[in-house]
Amino acid sequence: MTEPLTRSVGSRQRIEDLERPALDDRSYRIITLPNQLEVLLIHDAETDKASAALDVNVGSFSDAKDMPGIAHAVEHLLFMGTEKYPKENAYNQYLTSHSGHSNAYTASTSTNYYFELAASSSSPADKKTSQSNTTQEQLPVLKEESPLWGALDRFGQFFISPLFLEDTLDRELKAVDSENKKNLQSDTWRLHQLNKALSNPNHPYCHFSTGSYKTLHDDPIARGVKIRDEFINFHAKHYSANRMKLVILGRESLDTLEEWAEEIFSQVPNKDLSRRRWDDVSVYTDNELLTQTFARPVFQSRSLDLSFLYRDEEEFYESHPARYLSHLIGHEGPGSILAYIKAKGWANGLAAGGTSLCPGSGLFNISVKLTEDGLEHYKEVTKIIFQYIAMVRAQPPQKWVVDEQIRMSEVDFRFRQKMPPSRTTSALAAVMQKPYDRKMLLSGPAVIRKFDAERLSQAMAYLRPDNFRLNIVSQDFPGGWDQKEQWYGTEFKSDKIPEEFLVEIREAFENPTRPAELHFPHKNEFIPNRLEVEKKKVETPLKTPKLIRHDEGVRTWYKKDDQFWVPKANVNIIFRTPMIYLTARTVVMSALYRDLVNDALVEYAYDADISGLIYEFNSYMSGLALSVEGYNDKLHVLLEKVLLSIRDLEVREDRVKIVHERMTRQFYNVDFGQPFHQVGNYSRWLKNEKGLLTEQLMKELEDITALDIRNFYPQILAQCHIEVLAHGNLRKEEALQITNLVENTMKPKRLPPSQWPIRRSLILPPGSNFIYERQLKDPANVNHCIEYMLYLGTTADRSLRAKILMIAQMTDEPAFNQLRTIEQLGYVVFSGSSITDTWAGYRILIQSEKDCRYLEGRIEHFLTTFEKILDEMSEEDFEGHKKAVINKRLEKLKNLTEEGNRFWNHIFSDAYDFLSHDEDAKHLTPLTKQDVQTCFSHYISPSSPHRAKLSVHLIAQAKPKEPTPEEKKAQAITQFTTILTAENITADLPTLQSRIDAIPNTPDTMASIVTAISAHLTEDLKLGKETVDKVLDEAKAALGLADVGKVASPEVLKNGDVEKAVKESDGTTPVLIEDVHAWKAGLQMSTGVRPVRDLGEFVEGAAKL
Ligand SMILES: [Zn+2]
Repeated sequence: MTEPLTRSVGSRQRIEDLERPALDDRSYRIITLPNQLEVLLIHDAETDKASAALDVNVGSFSDAKDMPGIAHAVEHLLFMGTEKYPKENAYNQYLTSHSGHSNAYTASTSTNYYFELAASSSSPADKKTSQSNTTQEQLPVLKEESPLWGALDRFGQFFISPLFLEDTLDRELKAVDSENKKNLQSDTWRLHQLNKALSNPNHPYCHFSTGSYKTLHDDPIARGVKIRDEFINFHAKHYSANRMKLVILGRESLDTLEEWAEEIFSQVPNKDLSRRRWDDVSVYTDNELLTQTFARPVFQSRSLDLSFLYRDEEEFYESHPARYLSHLIGHEGPGSILAYIKAKGWANGLAAGGTSLCPGSGLFNISVKLTEDGLEHYKEVTKIIFQYIAMVRAQPPQKWVVDEQIRMSEVDFRFRQKMPPSRTTSALAAVMQKPYDRKMLLSGPAVIRKFDAERLSQAMAYLRPDNFRLNIVSQDFPGGWDQKEQWYGTEFKSDKIPEEFLVEIREAFENPTRPAELHFPHKNEFIPNRLEVEKKKVETPLKTPKLIRHDEGVRTWYKKDDQFWVPKANVNIIFRTPMIYLTARTVVMSALYRDLVNDALVEYAYDADISGLIYEFNSYMSGLALSVEGYNDKLHVLLEKVLLSIRDLEVREDRVKIVHERMTRQFYNVDFGQPFHQVGNYSRWLKNEKGLLTEQLMKELEDITALDIRNFYPQILAQCHIEVLAHGNLRKEEALQITNLVENTMKPKRLPPSQWPIRRSLILPPGSNFIYERQLKDPANVNHCIEYMLYLGTTADRSLRAKILMIAQMTDEPAFNQLRTIEQLGYVVFSGSSITDTWAGYRILIQSEKDCRYLEGRIEHFLTTFEKILDEMSEEDFEGHKKAVINKRLEKLKNLTEEGNRFWNHIFSDAYDFLSHDEDAKHLTPLTKQDVQTCFSHYISPSSPHRAKLSVHLIAQAKPKEPTPEEKKAQAITQFTTILTAENITADLPTLQSRIDAIPNTPDTMASIVTAISAHLTEDLKLGKETVDKVLDEAKAALGLADVGKVASPEVLKNGDVEKAVKESDGTTPVLIEDVHAWKAGLQMSTGVRPVRDLGEFVEGAAKL
């Protein structure tokens, strides 16, 4: 605690002495407003972002049985206008103009809303020159000057006087519906819902929490329910100040923040609602316990899950009993369940942990990732788990185990570093709903304080053979799934566990003779002891590492931490070689080798992992990369062991079989992922000189043997260049010792720089208009996906980069508003810059049920409209956007990891552009609106003959259900209303309704609807031609009827004569790429990535940069 504060409100209780991490320089205050809204205020003088979060103690567990998803729908609708700020996107526009963003989620007993934006209205660039020695007391506290105040006022109104604007209702329900559709093919959602569906139907855990258009709109309307009233009622019934927890984080003093919180949030109505509990109903009753469920996943995956009826432990946060059980059962070191079943070739992974579902209920889950063999032996695996549990239960709770956990949890809390502000506020608002002692709000969830033998014994008693359920997930075992889950359609079958199997489980559990391989873990040698930090204050932290060794075979980059002061370090190493990316076969062999090394290290590395020391070993296009990160005390121990495993890997047939099978499944599963996750693979393949598709890798994988890997891997390491980054709480000598360790262990032959891989991308010539089409392999998926990319030039052109960043910023909100909100093309809409190795571009990505050529047309239409928006943009708005981008580029590093990753990315990319953020800001500052307009009209505007476009179309096989003519009419009216609202036009709904009702139900209902809308605009509303055209075009777009013109019939590029194709098509007719190899061969290549400055300048002692 620093300053003793004078208090304006005498009687209010203020809690300020929260337990906090050693390095936490924030100050905290907890108050309760007169309306019983509890508020946590966080003052952070150094933060560049401010944030607030509000958590309401109501969620999907309170959904009405006949309206699943209503809590989630209210979360979406609450943000649709307030009395004070009736414009529905007022909040988001405000946030975007201050480099901000917002989000919300609905959980089972909580709904959590949050935002983040610039903490100050000046950008860090101006600050440096004007107010370098300003202290926080002198910072402005004028409301008008603080972006935070404006955001809080807009945010607060949602809880004070939300309007639930009628005309946004349908659209937000559509958003909920497409959110649900996006999850339909996801096994995480499907299997989670299946478990819920099979729990006690009287416990709210069984609810379907997302909701859909059917559950929130069609079904209730069919029952005669006025849905808007239902949403308002839900809000009236459950939202109350005393159920809300607010967290505000900003630069302003605690007193100022307190005043603001009071002024805005004490207006939130208080209804004195109680905190809900579910004590009298069990998640599993005798009906659900001792059942086995076999479920069929979308992905090729196999798992076995045991789910025990457990308890809610939110009151037991001083001892966290479930963590004793998850530590032992989830252990991966010698003696553990995983080590034993992995050695038998039955499992690839295991996780265990307790979850509090709600006040009054909890579960304890054990989940095992099975191999093919493991699936055949799932009964044995189950019995082994029970043998291990019995082994643990045979001993009283072990104090030394808990002592290790206490020690590690304290160290982790003590050296915890800052997270981004909105993660801090959102997480803390949720934590405040729990019964922690207020002084332990920060530490409570993290730290184990005491060994409580009694509570541990109680906890162990839940894990019994008569108190669990069993789930098996597999695509082909055992077959005969005779049921379908209601919401996601997951096929499954479920019955009681056969008595013979239960007898075997009980016998395994009760028999005191157990495999010798199962035992308690050994003492953990990786728990750090040496936690001293050598703190040398510096004026300004260094922005680049130094090159402390720079010879023919090795480079070592080093920076001692000068701002975060944690006893941690990052060491990154690349073994640079062209050997990996020679052919698809070498890529796959390298990947298998990587997996085998990681597989061999599971048991050893586990203790380090739970002691905050992790390693990562991976293979990339430019070589093998290894990183070790965490507490620096034992870092070298782990590093040495990993290096030896990399060098001396014993390639065992049995492990190859398992790793090979797992990779086959991973490759196979790529095709069943979300289309917007798949599209990047094709885009990268097309954009870069070298690139491979999963299908190419898959073909090679088929016949690679253990012998192939055994012969191949030593060649990768025999000759390579080593580059090291050592960063953090390390001395220079240690960095050099680490380098020696790497070099002396691997002893590679030197690889001359002339043989190092070069990164290049293709250059799309001006006038390019290419489309690459691909059908998606998942027959059940109804979503198409387009990635529309414009090539502007090379990444090395800093001024061009700055312009792209500006265009990305300015189109961000309008693209989302137009393509997602107004035209309702789909839930996934991204737009922004795409700046990779040497490719500097702009892109728009949409995942939608509408087809790709249609989407292509809508994107071009948006870009054309945006050109006008840009022309009309005021200088003030332009400058505001500029400030927002500069703020983002100059955002402060939050912790040592972020800094380490930034350095490593610049080294790994071969550009060594450590100052790229500052350079971008420098090139943004002088940009004029004219500069950006010129850039836009030359490179991006669809009417420009100079632009270079490439788009990838992923085409779905399945078709969404065709709506009935009545549905089409109803849909048309709501979509049309949405558009009019966005255009600020007042509709005459009854007149339009009667026009539409008069349309007969024929196959061309849609065309008649458009005619009716057009007549309504001109004859009823008497709007001018320009407005009519615009609105009509948007209406057609939303109905899927927009004229997509030229895009409909691309030419086909056959012989790879790109030059000729570009010349003939003149940029206006798209050209379809059929033979990618020929197409690439017809294109020029960019220059390679090169260091932005001579590396000699980074050598320690070199002339100042
Ligand atoms: Zn949502």
